[in-house]
Amino acid sequence: MHEMGIAMQIIEIAVASIPADLKNAQVKRVNIKVGKLAAVVPESLHFCFQIAAQDTPLGDAELNIEEIPLKIKCTDCNVEWTALDPVFICRRCNGGSVKMLSGRELDITSIEVED
Ligand SMILES: [Zn+2]
Repeated sequence: MHEMGIAMQIIEIAVASIPADLKNAQVKRVNIKVGKLAAVVPESLHFCFQIAAQDTPLGDAELNIEEIPLKIKCTDCNVEWTALDPVFICRRCNGGSVKMLSGRELDITSIEVED
């Protein structure tokens, strides 16, 4: 279960991004983007986040996970589609020049701090 490591990283980054002049700031919400291929189970991440956030400024924060679908594009015939699993062959021309446009993300998009 690598979600615990991810949860701790999110918390570390969020704590570091709280402006210095907001000493007792409480983080209200953390918005993250998780690609389908990042192999993150949202339920596990929520669970780990709750545990890891205890006794940090994120103790009451809500973790908002936006799941990013896997988008594939064929560079030969320019068709784009959404897939559930990694794809290596174009579904239109059967060529092998496919690339992944999205699906590997694991980013914090924003952090909301209580006023
Ligand atoms: Zn193609």
